[in-house]
Amino acid sequence: MESVGGRVTLCNARGVTPTLAVVLVGEDPASEVYVRNKGKKAAQLGIATRDHRLPDATTTEALLAVVATLNADPEVDGILVQLPLPGHVDEQAVLLAVDPAKDVDGFHPANLGRLVIGSPVFIPCTPQGCMLLLESAGVDPAGKRALVIGRSTIVGKPVAQLLVAAHATVTIAHSRTVDLPAEVARAEIVIAAVGRPRFVQGEWLAQGATVIDVGINRLPTGKLCGDVAFDSARERVGAITPVPGGVGPMTIACLMGNVVLAAERRAKIV
Ligand code: NAD
Repeated sequence: MESVGGRVTLCNARGVTPTLAVVLVGEDPASEVYVRNKGKKAAQLGIATRDHRLPDATTTEALLAVVATLNADPEVDGILVQLPLPGHVDEQAVLLAVDPAKDVDGFHPANLGRLVIGSPVFIPCTPQGCMLLLESAGVDPAGKRALVIGRSTIVGKPVAQLLVAAHATVTIAHSRTVDLPAEVARAEIVIAAVGRPRFVQGEWLAQGATVIDVGINRLPTGKLCGDVAFDSARERVGAITPVPGGVGPMTIACLMGNVVLAAERRAKIV
């Protein structure tokens, strides 16, 4: 398969520069870091970015107007509205306003619906990254028992859908799951997307399990850690992704892949 950089060159040859518009509202420090990292990666790959930094007080209407302008701009391939939005903004209305053909995050209900029927326009970046990490570890989900911990719309539910599509037998655990350690013990693949530091204990895991740790948690010391107790887990598992590293950088790589896919569609390459 052609690398993302190679695909950018092919777009350029047809007069198309893959372009990502990033909309950041307010001054959430974590969002600032994510947006900066995405901008750096885009620049390395020859993807243009257009930053739209809006003040915290921006209204839903003003944000919808920005999205409408970006939807109408033929040179913008992808639109990324960095979440979370400030509490007073109607997040659903904003996500719904993004043109599904430019929704490189894959969060629009039309795109999530198409994921369920098996013909996605864009696969959400973090779930896509989880599947690529499994593939790179040589783990084929077909016929395996997979446990997804977390049922969010941006990670848990779509990754469970992708695992089903890859023929795994999938369980989704969440805050009301009664005996999580027993669920974890049965799983050959564990995807942890809870948002609680070192919540999944190494002793819960089956010998040889494959663990994808999506969690990004900041400890009081300032250090980042995942949802899985890495040190005790690594004694038992076949493979585990680290935090930081692992899913985070893979998510950004998948975002770039989605922007280039949108540009390839504009350039009529695909
Ligand atoms: P979320 O808060 O929307 O969802 C958390 C889920 O965990 C919920 O569905 C909830 O039911 C479940 N949960 C809570 N307590 C539980 C318990 N005791 N037992 C079992 N399940 C429980 O979070 P999210 O947006 O899905 O993110 C999850 C984590 O992944 C966070 O740490 C977030 O920072 C991280 N994340 C990382 C990336 C990345 O690029 N690596 C991307 C998105 C999210």
